[in-house]
Amino acid sequence: MKKNAILSLLVLIVLHACGTTAFTGRKQLLVYSDESVSALSDESYADFMKTAVVSDDVMHKNMVRSVGERMVIALTTYLQGIGRPDYLTGLDWDFQLIDDPAVNAFCLPNGKIVLFEGILNFADNPNHLAIVIGHEMGHAVARHGNERMSQQALLQSAGQIATQVFSQTKYGGTAQAVELFAQAFAFGSNVGVVLPFSRKHEYEADRIGLYIMALAGYDIYQTPLFWEKMMADQKSPSFDFLSTHPADVKRIAAISESLDEAATYYRDPGAGNINLTR
Ligand SMILES: [Zn+2]
Repeated sequence: MKKNAILSLLVLIVLHACGTTAFTGRKQLLVYSDESVSALSDESYADFMKTAVVSDDVMHKNMVRSVGERMVIALTTYLQGIGRPDYLTGLDWDFQLIDDPAVNAFCLPNGKIVLFEGILNFADNPNHLAIVIGHEMGHAVARHGNERMSQQALLQSAGQIATQVFSQTKYGGTAQAVELFAQAFAFGSNVGVVLPFSRKHEYEADRIGLYIMALAGYDIYQTPLFWEKMMADQKSPSFDFLSTHPADVKRIAAISESLDEAATYYRDPGAGNINLTR
């Protein structure tokens, strides 16, 4: 195939492979179907759970689950209400607390959210857990995993014949998707290690997290202080969360600037003034 023809094909694919993120309405490149990314996530999650030890801290396990469920109900109700249940395609939410001192959490593109016990040192009440869970849900509902894989596919296609790369996307099979998924969500033998998302994805997950928190009636105004505390303590051992979710003064400032807009998502006027932490 001639170079121009390849280029035209790429342009065509990119034009047809654009999605729009939930809440923020940003145009994004999505060359994979939600179903294929979910299937890869399911496999990865099953592998992870084979070796992971689920926490026996019943109180916190229940807290994580109940916060997660409240956030999911709020998000689902909202998206269905605005006629966009399609943003939930491929998401089958689950919340696990793992017996591991790592200060970390991750979410796979299929909505499986994993928190490690170490994060309870910072998030030991429902409102703080809602900050962490909301952020992770933000990555999933905005399809950041699919977008990252799609961007990689496009980069890799630069030196290859376009049809070879894209024959394996939703326009064809899934062989290369497996490889790209493995690159994006590289798991160690025991502790799940998800490569850091880009700064753009982190900021967007923060914003969407605030919106979901507000929809669920949590106090979004505690969020900047939560991240400041995380930042101040990040030199302690086992602290992995900020390596996968880099936080700095700018990011916290962006969170603060988003608060008033996020507050418009409160269903119950004044709910944001209620302290729900205890
Ligand atoms: Zn993140």
